[in-house]
Amino acid sequence: MSKNTWYNKELSFINNNIRYYQQMILLSTDPYQRMFYEGLLSNEMRRFYYKQWHINCMNNPSNREGENTHVNQREFTLEELAQYDGAGGRPAYVAVNGIVYDVSLDATWGGGTHFSLYAGRDLSGAFMGCHGGRTEILRNLPQVGVLKLNEMSINCPIRNLKTITARKIMDLALEKIKNASVKKVNLIWLEATGCAGNIISLLNAENPDVIYLLDQMVTLKYNNSLMAAEGESAFQQFLDTLETEFILVVEGAVATKDEGLYTIIARYQGELVTAMEAVKIAGERAKYVVTVGTCASYGGPSAARPNPSQSVSVPQLLNKEVIRVPGCPSHPDWAIGTIANLIAFGKPELDAQGRPIMFYGITIHDQCTRRSYFEKGIFATKLGDRECMFKLGCRGPVTRTDCPVRQWNGYVNWPIEDNTPCIGCAQERFPDGMGPFVRY
Ligand code: SF4
Repeated sequence: MSKNTWYNKELSFINNNIRYYQQMILLSTDPYQRMFYEGLLSNEMRRFYYKQWHINCMNNPSNREGENTHVNQREFTLEELAQYDGAGGRPAYVAVNGIVYDVSLDATWGGGTHFSLYAGRDLSGAFMGCHGGRTEILRNLPQVGVLKLNEMSINCPIRNLKTITARKIMDLALEKIKNASVKKVNLIWLEATGCAGNIISLLNAENPDVIYLLDQMVTLKYNNSLMAAEGESAFQQFLDTLETEFILVVEGAVATKDEGLYTIIARYQGELVTAMEAVKIAGERAKYVVTVGTCASYGGPSAARPNPSQSVSVPQLLNKEVIRVPGCPSHPDWAIGTIANLIAFGKPELDAQGRPIMFYGITIHDQCTRRSYFEKGIFATKLGDRECMFKLGCRGPVTRTDCPVRQWNGYVNWPIEDNTPCIGCAQERFPDGMGPFVRY
């Protein structure tokens, strides 16, 4: 079968999916179900356009940008491109949509960096995200070559960008902290209405571990589970920290029924202190508010139907920007990475829901090791099968985290690799909107 026939078959397969999702959107009576299929549809549309563009490139390389000034120029592999990172006086090259541009003399690319991007990479995804694909911006840049087509086909530029950027930002932040060029900050970690699963998950951190977090990065002023102080003196520490510059981390939703009496976190001078009160007071004064876990970020299991404690998420309670680090629990790297970024560089780049793009920029489905089964329409019929678990209810297509590349428990495995469909635990409306978790 020729390459073109193969790609056309793929296009018609994607087309079938698109038609199926469109029908399901029309038939959906439940808003969550409709959202689920809308998410799938938008992913599939993106895939369709990407494939079409790729076929165009295969048939006519000069179509990569509608120009042909790069024909006969050098072909770069991603490895070769990485050598032109603009550091140490080296030239700075970047690839966009298959064309390699020299940005060494561009004023906005000093030292091979451009905002939080780095030269020496395929930045097609970032270019699309930041400049909406307006290639006229690139016209004045010298074109020095093209990316090899096979490099482009096996490396999704968006996925690479997210993975490399997350790793690089973490490394840079930790290096800055290690060189003592930034100072430790005070941290209040409140446990509101939840299972304390996020602080337990944090204790599993490995790179860096929780000792490093406490020794080098933050001064933990208040946390129910980890602090040595207890009783009134513990809460006094909380109150004293309010007068300093601090980061507030909240895990757990906030119970609001009966003025928050369903979650008491302290007794101070004879009065009960509710989590709701504590989150409000500290939230107003904190330099940054970070919600770790899905309960604090979106309500999660604590606010699931019938929600007897009338729990709400932290963003619903506070009239202030909140950085969401969801997950049930949140991966320790997501929590520590976000804190490291805040200390070293300030607020990380966030998506529309306030999640750091470096961890939540792409769906599980886009990076899943079973994706090729999905594309060929080969589905698991029971748990334990090695194929795509979409028809068993996998929520990977609508869940944005980097679980497939980061992995869990010391970076050894993740749910789908362990034959468990993704249940969408890091996503808004989990768990009510994500069930049934397994469907036969
Ligand atoms: S197992 Fe889930 S995430 Fe993986 S390809 Fe299938 S539907 Fe997508």
